[in-house]
Amino acid sequence: MPELPEVETVRLQLLYHLPKKTIKGVEVFHSKSVGFDEEFEDTFVGKTIEHIDRVGKLMIVSFARQRNLFLLAHLKMTGQFFFVAKDGELSGGGHSMTEADVRGLPNKHTRVAFYFTDGSALYFNDMRLFGYIKRASKEAVERARAGFGPEPIADDFDCEWFAAALKKKRTSIKAALLNQAFVAGLGNIYVDEALFRAGVRPTRRADKLTKAEAARLCRAAGEVMRESITVGGTTFQHFVDTKGENGNFTKQLQIFGKQNTPCITCGTTVQKIRVAGRGTHYCPKCQK
Ligand SMILES: [Zn+2]
Repeated sequence: MPELPEVETVRLQLLYHLPKKTIKGVEVFHSKSVGFDEEFEDTFVGKTIEHIDRVGKLMIVSFARQRNLFLLAHLKMTGQFFFVAKDGELSGGGHSMTEADVRGLPNKHTRVAFYFTDGSALYFNDMRLFGYIKRASKEAVERARAGFGPEPIADDFDCEWFAAALKKKRTSIKAALLNQAFVAGLGNIYVDEALFRAGVRPTRRADKLTKAEAARLCRAAGEVMRESITVGGTTFQHFVDTKGENGNFTKQLQIFGKQNTPCITCGTTVQKIRVAGRGTHYCPKCQK
């Protein structure tokens, strides 16, 4: 499953291509992908894309002169967006991109296609059909936004608020960080990385962290996500961004997936356990 940095990478690249494009035609190949919305195709013809925003891993597309019409898009396990310019140049982004994914678009995994008046097109491919691109009202967008806490990568993320809020959490710090309603955007990989950098053990109770630990963790969470976005996310299962480039944050992972190998800081063997139902990696010496 793509994590937030990957989704942000895709969003930034869609943002590069899509604003000001007017939709000439829409083709829905699988109605589950649009929430069985029978009016989906007709609704978007003639609309001009204004902006692509994001909350958590949900992308929000807005349209010029439309205050109550949005698209909510989630890649889930296997969703991909491919933008094809009018000269045929392809930019692809999403999960698990192989050559077969991009052959002859639209192809058997294409669920929705948008054709623009300038001859370019956007394809939503999703092999496993867990992803979606759905019509939404302003109210639905606001509801979706309300389900997410602030993001550690936001400029105004407040580390003092974070430290105070942790004091009310009686779960493990790992579970607290995975809870998107508390802080949005940290998935399993980035939680492990942030906890390692901060020297905090994933099993610690969130409300027992010291002020200094909470401050270190706050900084580490922002850093690890920003670094990942700059390099285009992690390359699990050939994740490719919308320019067709592999994300290479995988090379910079310090603890995730490093079980049974020596810790890069102290040489102690990295452990893998289950915390909050997720595979969790930590160094028993560096993380207290
Ligand atoms: Zn260590």
